[in-house]
Amino acid sequence: MTRTVYLNGEYLPETEAKVSIFDRGFLMADGVYEVTSVLNGKLVDFDGHAVRLNRSLSELGMNNPISKEDLLEVHRELVRVNDVNEGGVYLQITRGAPADRDFAFPDPDETPCTVVLFTQSKPGVTDNAASQNGIRVISIEDLRWGRRDIKTVQLLYPSMGKMMAKAAGCDDAWLVEDGFVTEGTSNNAYIVKDGKIITRGLSNDILHGITRAAVLRFANEAQMKVEERNFTIEEAQNADEAFITSATMFVNAVVEIDGAQIGDGKPGSIAKRMREIYLEESLKVAI
Ligand code: PMP
Repeated sequence: MTRTVYLNGEYLPETEAKVSIFDRGFLMADGVYEVTSVLNGKLVDFDGHAVRLNRSLSELGMNNPISKEDLLEVHRELVRVNDVNEGGVYLQITRGAPADRDFAFPDPDETPCTVVLFTQSKPGVTDNAASQNGIRVISIEDLRWGRRDIKTVQLLYPSMGKMMAKAAGCDDAWLVEDGFVTEGTSNNAYIVKDGKIITRGLSNDILHGITRAAVLRFANEAQMKVEERNFTIEEAQNADEAFITSATMFVNAVVEIDGAQIGDGKPGSIAKRMREIYLEESLKVAI
């Protein structure tokens, strides 16, 4: 089926949506993005993604070209026309397409941002092999730039990380800097020891995950112990459980790190409980 996508104010068949070769997203990775999950045809934590989008744009000195209300309307319309029940909406805003390639930012009054949204249908996303069995990860050096809190479209190194994981027969990679895990290639990383959930604190070193914020809030509400601090791969390998969070995978257990089995090699009880709580609570407030 040909999807309907959104480009700069228009709904178009995906084959007809075209962006200039001078677009700074294409030439410079000068753009930001968000992925909002869709469950039961509804948007999960739309507000959180809209707030983070604004922050990413303002950190890069870009004006937000679309109001939150209009953005919600576009998300909903795309979900409706493309009949998405489970999956997500991808949103990208770039600094637009000036007349020529130049390192200097164009004048925003002359060069409007490029706004693109499209849906991705992923039936079965709440119950699949990864969620049932957990995933296996390798560790690799974190070679990304120093502003990982801004959700930019510079995803080459995370893509390379996923390919390195695949080449090693694994599902994903955890990134390590100065001996400590920062996060996964496209998710936040956690370990569990003696009932306590441990995850790196927020800084410019990691993306401030929308799922992370929700999961830590639910964990606190459920009176579970949470510690925000750095941890090493060795500590993770000796933990009782490990898991990741992201808008597309929710909460997913990690059962192996660099060949070392975590716990009994099956998704742990806290990871499973957090996944259940997350899905249940998110669905209640999805819009
Ligand atoms: N870290 C990185 C590097 C990511 O790319 C993502 C997913 N976009 C996350 C963490 C998780 O963030 P969220 O829960 O908002 O999807």
